[in-house]
Amino acid sequence: MKEPELIYLDNNATTPCDPRVVDAMWPYFYEKPGNAASRSHPYGWVAEEAVQQSREQIARLVSADPREIVFTSGATESDNLAIKGVFEMYRRKGKHIITLKTEHKAVLDACAKIEKLGGEITYLDVDQEGLVKLELLDEAIRPDTILVAIMWANNETGVIQPMQEIGAICDKHGCLLMSDATQAVGKIPVNPKATGVHLMAFSAHKMYGPKGVGALYVSRRQPRVKITPQIDGGGHEQGMRSGTLNVPGIVGFGKAAEIAFSDMQSDAARLAALRDQLESALLKRIEDASINGSRKHRLPHVCNIAFKYAEAESVMMTFNQKVALSSGSACTSASVEPSHVITAMGRTSDEAHSSMRFSLGRFTTKEEIEYTIEAIVKGVSQIRDRSPVWEMYKEGLL
Ligand SMILES: *Cc1c(COP(=O)(O)O)cnc(C)c1O
Repeated sequence: MKEPELIYLDNNATTPCDPRVVDAMWPYFYEKPGNAASRSHPYGWVAEEAVQQSREQIARLVSADPREIVFTSGATESDNLAIKGVFEMYRRKGKHIITLKTEHKAVLDACAKIEKLGGEITYLDVDQEGLVKLELLDEAIRPDTILVAIMWANNETGVIQPMQEIGAICDKHGCLLMSDATQAVGKIPVNPKATGVHLMAFSAHKMYGPKGVGALYVSRRQPRVKITPQIDGGGHEQGMRSGTLNVPGIVGFGKAAEIAFSDMQSDAARLAALRDQLESALLKRIEDASINGSRKHRLPHVCNIAFKYAEAESVMMTFNQKVALSSGSACTSASVEPSHVITAMGRTSDEAHSSMRFSLGRFTTKEEIEYTIEAIVKGVSQIRDRSPVWEMYKEGLL
C-alpha cells in the first residue's frame, strides 16, 4: 500500500474548509470590503446583501426563518449566549437549569458560571449508550426550571439524543429547550422548530466552513424567545449580539450551509459505508475492542472504540501520528484527564484512555480508511505485546 502523507480523521475537532467555500469568501476580503452595518453607501449594501443571503442559506438548512439566525464567533459563544442569556432574561421565573454530564465544555463551563452567579444546575446521568434517560429528565424539571440544555449529537461518540422526545417533555412542562447542535447541523437533518428546540448553537468550522463564525438559532414564534445579550455595543443582530459582522466568514458559512443542504444525504451515505468498513475491520481483527456509545443512534461518520489495555496515545505514537485522531484523554493544564463523556457512560478511566475517536469527513478516501485499519491493528498489537497488564489479563490474572 502506498504511504499517504497524513490522514485526517479528526473532523469532529474541525473540518477543512471546502474549496467552494473559500472561493465564495475570497471577494469579501478586498474587492467587497464593506461593513454590513454601513447604511450610507454601496460598500455597506453589498456586504449586507451577502450577509442576508448567508442568513437565508443557513436558515434553509435548519428549516428556520432567517430572522431566527443570530451570528456569533462560533458555537462556544452561541452556547454561552443561550445559557447566560436565558438565565439573565428569565431570572424572575426561576434559576434552575438542567443539562447532561456528557455535554461539551462550552455548555458545562457556562453552567458552572451560572452556579457561581446563584443559579442551580442539575447534571443528568446518561445510560451506558450515552443516551439521556427520559424519565430522569421528566422528573428533574421543576416549576422554577427555566432551561434544559441537551446536545443534539455528541462530539466524542457521535451519539444522537432523542430530541423529539426531549422536546415533548419540555413542552409538557413549559420550559425552554436549548441544544448544542454543532456536530449535527449539516450532517443529519436538523429542524429545531419541528423538534421543539427553542435555541440552537452551531458552528461553521464543523461543517466545512471557516473557523471563528457560528450561529445561534433563537425561536421567534411559538414561543418568542428573548435573551439578554452578553456583548453590548451597537445593537447588531437584533440587539442580541453586538459587534461588526465577520462578513467573509459569514459568506463562507452560508456557502457551507448551501453545500450541506444539497450534499448531506450523499455525503452521509458514503461516509457511513467507510465508517462501517473501518469499524467492522477493527472489531473483527482486534480482540477486546468495543464501541463507546450507541451504535444505532449515532452520526454516520463517527466511531469511538476502546481497545482494552492499549493506551490510545501510545498506539498513535506507533504510527507517528500519521493518522490524525483524538483519544479519550483530555489534557488539562495540570494533568491528562480521562474523557468526561466516556466515563459518564460507565466506563473506567483506563477504558477512556484506551479509546480512540475516528471522525471521517467529506474528503476522507477509501484508501485512507484502508491504511488506517492496518495502522491501528498493528499499533494496538505492538502496544499490547509490550504490556505486562495485557499479559496478565490474557493469563486470566485480572
Ligand atoms: C466544536 C464544538 C463546540 C465549539 O465550537 P466553536 O465554534 O469551536 O466554538 C461546541 N460544541 C460542540 C458539540 C462542538 O463539537
